[in-house]
Amino acid sequence: MHCPFCGANDTRVTDSRLVAEGDQVRRRRQCAACSERFTTYETAELVMPRVIKSDGTREVFDQGKLRAGMLRALEKRPVSAESIEAAVERIRQHLRARGEREIHARDIGEEVMQALKRLDQIAYIRFASVYRRFQDIDEFRAEIDRLAQEPGFPDDPAGGR
Ligand SMILES: [Zn+2]
Repeated sequence: MHCPFCGANDTRVTDSRLVAEGDQVRRRRQCAACSERFTTYETAELVMPRVIKSDGTREVFDQGKLRAGMLRALEKRPVSAESIEAAVERIRQHLRARGEREIHARDIGEEVMQALKRLDQIAYIRFASVYRRFQDIDEFRAEIDRLAQEPGFPDDPAGGR
């Protein structure tokens, strides 16, 4: 790879380590010509299944959209960016591991709900209330009741905002 500073193509890797739970390789490089140092990230380009939306149309899997949905639910909640990133990555791995060429949007929604449930129950309730709105309100109520029985669950799901 060419040096971004002088354009020489003789660069040397000085350090190499796995990041992002091993899905990425971070390399420190140094140019043999001008001695400038720079960093490159290497990620395998893996094909994600396409997403079948509820109206039957297909779209490419969008990790940014997935993250945005989770961030909305996690707004003002005490969950670190690192934990969120790890959860997004786990969902991506799960979806890929199914080995399907296409995947229903609702299956992704279920994955997100499971992830949020582990991260933060308030965020989980927020996401589930939007996501499951028209699907099965009774099941949702039952879920809230069930959660309310668990120790450590606040009485008011909207509390603390
Ligand atoms: Zn250079």
